[in-house]
Amino acid sequence: MTRLPDTSQQVADEGEEERVSRLLTGLSAMAILFLLGIGAKAWFATHTHHAFSLWFFAGLVAMNMLSFARSRNRRHQKAGMISIVGLLFGYLIITGGESNTGPLWFYVFPPLLFYLTDLKTGTAVLLFCCLLAVVVFQFPELPLVTAEYSTDFKIRFFATLTFESIFCFVLEASRLKARNELMDMARTHQHAARTDELTGLSNRRDMQHRLNEEYSRYRRSGHHFSIVLIDLDLFKRINDDYGHDAGDHVLRAFSELMQTVIRQTDVAARWGGEEFLILLPDTSLLQALTLAERLRSEVASAEFSFAGQRMPVTISAGICSIAKTGSVDELLKQADVHLYSAKEDGRNRVAPRVRTSPRETSPSGAGS
Ligand code: GH3
Ligand code: MG
Ligand code: MG
Repeated sequence: MTRLPDTSQQVADEGEEERVSRLLTGLSAMAILFLLGIGAKAWFATHTHHAFSLWFFAGLVAMNMLSFARSRNRRHQKAGMISIVGLLFGYLIITGGESNTGPLWFYVFPPLLFYLTDLKTGTAVLLFCCLLAVVVFQFPELPLVTAEYSTDFKIRFFATLTFESIFCFVLEASRLKARNELMDMARTHQHAARTDELTGLSNRRDMQHRLNEEYSRYRRSGHHFSIVLIDLDLFKRINDDYGHDAGDHVLRAFSELMQTVIRQTDVAARWGGEEFLILLPDTSLLQALTLAERLRSEVASAEFSFAGQRMPVTISAGICSIAKTGSVDELLKQADVHLYSAKEDGRNRVAPRVRTSPRETSPSGAGS
């Protein structure tokens, strides 16, 4: 089971990034309209310089949108937006905006920052911006600084901003925590839904899914594959003679042994009860028969014991290659027919019996 790449985290991250990106596009469009509008108001109030500055920022936001539309680079879109907003708020604090209300826009910064960046980056950028604001507030005689604020305003501004920032930090931290917990839970459920509890192998549902995928690959690119359907011989007797726990132990021990025999690319599943299925990608019927025969002989010679008692364990197997059939259902049916004949022939054997031809024994003899 561990061979299946876990993509749920990547899919969720991708989804989150996509949502953030869409939100940014919406916010950018709103910001452009707003800046154009306030700029027009400043223009009619004959604050020409302020109007041009706001329109300039609207132009920067539009350029960031266009650049994202061309490159689809979400990191650059985020970094661009944060930089523009930071500059805009810096400008509003330095100049005071309309009637010295510019600093009020700073309150938009903490939630936006924590949403767009991680908590560490958000905190660092916020502290840096606050430091700049302190410098501007304390030294109104600095070049470019044209606004002066009352002491009461400065105290209230920083007190409320600190409160808001802490609140945003805590909310974002708990949002991330809840999200990670949900992701972990989803991963656990996903793993449980495709794993057999007793053996830890893929379960039937997962194997069915993999068979369908392998079949699609075969239809697309002609990559052959084979399956080995295995049934433990006279397993009921093991349960009856040694107990159910001993039976469970044999199922687990057999699963472990099977995994040492198959290749990294093969997948073993518990197909149900004491039946197992191995999916062998890029494998001919003959190669599959060779593997099944090796597994059969290893099981027959292995020592299975439980609570000090040695148990006789053998397997029978039916093999089929996709080249011999036209669908996954037919493939499974055919393997089952072969398994049945192996049982009929006396168990502890693999079927069909195929005579080796030199062509088929070559490693590239896929699809025989
Ligand atoms: P054959 O060689 O024809 O396959 O004979 P068999 O006894 O293996 O076949 P049968 O279908 O009669 O019995 C299968 C037994 O496998 C019956 C069932 O109790 C046992 N079994 C199925 N699942 C489990 C399990 O999870 N644990 C244990 N201990 N036994 C199981
Ligand atoms: Mg059976
Ligand atoms: Mg059986």
